[in-house]
Amino acid sequence: MPSVAEVLRRYGPAYLERYGAAMPPEHKKVLQAISACRTGELGTAWYVCQSCGQEHAIACACGNRHCPSCQWGKTAGWLQQETARLLPCPYFLVTFTVPAPLRAVIRRHQRIAYAALFEASSAALKTLASNPRFVGSSHCGFGGCCIPGAGRWSIILMSTTSCRGAG
Ligand SMILES: [Zn+2]
Repeated sequence: MPSVAEVLRRYGPAYLERYGAAMPPEHKKVLQAISACRTGELGTAWYVCQSCGQEHAIACACGNRHCPSCQWGKTAGWLQQETARLLPCPYFLVTFTVPAPLRAVIRRHQRIAYAALFEASSAALKTLASNPRFVGSSHCGFGGCCIPGAGRWSIILMSTTSCRGAG
C-alpha cells in the first residue's frame, strides 16, 4: 500500500494544477511538506553507529502536524487518550454530504462554511434525536469533522444514545 507521501508525490502536481487556485495557501504548504518528507529534499542527517563506526544517512522529516509519517506516534497516543474518555454508550456516525454546487464556495470560505454546516447538521440531529421514534432524548452530544475526499465534502457527527435513560 502506498504511503500518503507517495500518493501526494505522484498525484499532487496534477491536483495542484486543477485545484491550486482555489486552495488556501496553508493547504499547499502541507502538501509540499508531506511530499518532501524523508526524500532528502529537506536535508540529510548523518549518524555514526557507536558499535561499528559506520555512517548512516537519514533523510530529514518534515515534522508537519498533518504528516502521517511524522505524527503517527502522537496520533496513536492521542487516540488512546481520547478512547479512554469515551462515554460507556454506543456512538453513531452520521454523514451529511454537501450538494456539489456548494463545494467550491465551501473550499474558499471554510471557516464560515464549516460553522454553518455544523450548526445545520447538529440542529437536524437534535430534531431527529428528540423524536421518540428514533432516540427519544434531547440529551445527545455531537462532535464534528469535515472529510474532504473524492470531490465531496461531508461532515460527521457523533451522537450518544444511552442518554435516553439519563435524561
Ligand atoms: Zn513528515
